[in-house]
Amino acid sequence: MKLSFLAVICILLLCLLLLPLGCTQTLTQPRLDGSVPIVRVRILENLNQATITASQPPIVTVSQNPARRRINMSSGAPVSITYTGGSWRLGDIALGSGELTLVPAYDGTLQVNGAAYHGQYRFVPTGANQFDVVNDVDVDDYLKSVVSKELYARWHEQTYRAQAIVARTYALYEARTAPAGRHFDLYPDERSQVYGGIDAETDKSRQAVVETAGVVAAAGPNGNQRIFKAYFSSSCGGISQSATDAFGDRPNPVFHEQSDQGLCSASPRYNWGPIVLSKAEVTRRVKLWGKTKGNPVQSMNQLARINIDTNSLGRPVRFYLSDASGTRFMLRSEEMRNALNTDGGNDKTAYFFSAFFKVVNDTNTIHFVEGHGHGHGVGLCQWAAQRRAELGMRHEDIVLSAYPGASLVRAY
Ligand SMILES: [Zn+2]
Repeated sequence: MKLSFLAVICILLLCLLLLPLGCTQTLTQPRLDGSVPIVRVRILENLNQATITASQPPIVTVSQNPARRRINMSSGAPVSITYTGGSWRLGDIALGSGELTLVPAYDGTLQVNGAAYHGQYRFVPTGANQFDVVNDVDVDDYLKSVVSKELYARWHEQTYRAQAIVARTYALYEARTAPAGRHFDLYPDERSQVYGGIDAETDKSRQAVVETAGVVAAAGPNGNQRIFKAYFSSSCGGISQSATDAFGDRPNPVFHEQSDQGLCSASPRYNWGPIVLSKAEVTRRVKLWGKTKGNPVQSMNQLARINIDTNSLGRPVRFYLSDASGTRFMLRSEEMRNALNTDGGNDKTAYFFSAFFKVVNDTNTIHFVEGHGHGHGVGLCQWAAQRRAELGMRHEDIVLSAYPGASLVRAY
């Protein structure tokens, strides 16, 4: 077919018009092909052996022998996967070496260690006889069991939709910023977001994901908005903190500290404590934490006292630990919480749900009093979101109220 000169010019002009949409890193325009991005979730780590069960034979490839082959498996019969001496074995079948990929015959027809997930599975060697299992899954299928795992079943559908937008933003941010060479984007637990697979989905969580498909929160100048690491936690205890104060992240106005006027007061952890620990025990925990993190506090002598700096609204953000020799160590709020919870045993009454507390320095003990909230208290407060939904707020406004200056855009 011969194209007229005019048609060629028209096509070129159209390409030039569409080019910025395809190339742009901003999110004001949906992806041209409308495809849903894939995220890589490390569902199991450092295994020696896994068990798979399939209702239909899956397709197997190994990276050093990329020919696809369908593996004959009896329906529903568990088969063991091992990685020894640098090669894979699936039941009696030797499969070669490299990264092993299992593609279910139909979505959801393959279980790994008793749980089924959407998408495909990659088995990635991590040591001589060890491997991770990574689930490559479209972000919306992933979110269907994140939203249900992160919220109570009885909570409002608007809370569910707000959580879906926030969790989508978080997941896509992590996928875009994963360090080069890492074989996954997300952990399946609190280190990222709790992910349960197909069995954990509910009608309410599926609906929330579908109703908000493609929508993310973004911030920045108009036309140049970027997604951000959309932190959320269970209850801020009434006052949030910035991601800079909590984690040392680069300053971002969407995490500016806010009071939520007690909207999360229905949380069972809105008030907690007091917790009393000997200075010797605080010293032991903090030094142990310092050792695992390579923090200078590992060299602290016996703790003498703790002083606190708060943010502009009164939430503690920096903790100064002075030891008996007068040396002072500074820990950020989340460092302090993790340090205090290090090797703390199973006594939940002595568990630090947040770093939002006051201290009373006694002769041999520290009293941690007036504890508030559960989690880091950055970004969306889930209990406040639920209260806002009960009061009639829509999910879009719930998300925007959690991240000052953000807007909602379509990522795909
Ligand atoms: Zn709150």
